[in-house]
Amino acid sequence: MALYAELHRHLGGSVVPRVLWRYFQRHADDKIERFADYAAFEDFYTRPRNTLDEYLELHTLVESVQTIETLPYFVYRLIRGAYIFENLAYLEIRYTPYLRTSEHLTQSQRIEQMAEIVDVVGKASQLSEYPIVTSQILCMHSRLPYEVNRAIVDLAAQKREYVCAVDVAGGDGHYAERLEEFVQLYAYARSLGLNTTGHLYETPAGCYPELLPYLMRIGHGIQIPLLHPELLPDLASRQQCLEVCPTTYLKTGTLQDMRQLKLVFDRCLDAGVDIAICTDNAGLHNVRLPFEYENLLTLDIIDFDELQACQDAAFRHAFAWPYGDRPASLLNGLLKPSLPTGVLAMQD
Ligand SMILES: [Zn+2]
Repeated sequence: MALYAELHRHLGGSVVPRVLWRYFQRHADDKIERFADYAAFEDFYTRPRNTLDEYLELHTLVESVQTIETLPYFVYRLIRGAYIFENLAYLEIRYTPYLRTSEHLTQSQRIEQMAEIVDVVGKASQLSEYPIVTSQILCMHSRLPYEVNRAIVDLAAQKREYVCAVDVAGGDGHYAERLEEFVQLYAYARSLGLNTTGHLYETPAGCYPELLPYLMRIGHGIQIPLLHPELLPDLASRQQCLEVCPTTYLKTGTLQDMRQLKLVFDRCLDAGVDIAICTDNAGLHNVRLPFEYENLLTLDIIDFDELQACQDAAFRHAFAWPYGDRPASLLNGLLKPSLPTGVLAMQD
């Protein structure tokens, strides 16, 4: 049994279409009355968009129903699915807590309510029947004001039992006019000892070398090997890992063919830059992590050795995995306790 680590999954995009459809049927059927049946809804929900912005717009549909009251419902189903269908041992869930607060509150009340949201998500992800090590990444957002983003960093520092890092999201083309602000926020996060990742170099419009030194991992980052391979040695020396989410680039119109990722993997692996393969929005795409792996193998983008190297990298770069080893070595001791080490090696 292989157990996996998922480093890049959005809470909003984690809801599979069937679960969302059921939720709407039970609680908000006005949101689905324009769809003739489930198939029409699934087609609308999962079909590719032309741009990253158009794709991100879809997240607002889910955000609108993920409130403080309903979050346990969605988080429970996320963890259950991840355990049963994806063999996850480790999961980092990311979201912008401000966008889950009650809209009728003032900005400062919403900032205050963010702490409750983090607690609700943290408690809802601890399920004894589906034991997965989970942690949260709080996303700053390109469309939120500075004070809110700074409060998100502060909250991450206050809630270390539930939060392992900060991120920036909202479309990487939108940071340009406020770049200095985000550099400052990341410097602040690092000064508090927080782990960092950031949605960068996902699209050709999102290339900001100024932010790179502050990041421990890079959300997507595929435009680095594709357009700026000269940066790869710096990434390798800083031991930065790319979180590559293969299906996303087709859904956002960033790539036309997944085989374009071969260059990404080849150049990174040659330069000694680690890649963790992730789903981004497994629900929205209706593609779970094992299928991301399988697609890359089937299309000859990577081979089995490279896949395992990426799976190992995911555990190595996980911000809150509490063990030194990936689960295979822990399970060997548990499932084959009486066999001497030599026999284990031969069976592998
Ligand atoms: Zn993402």
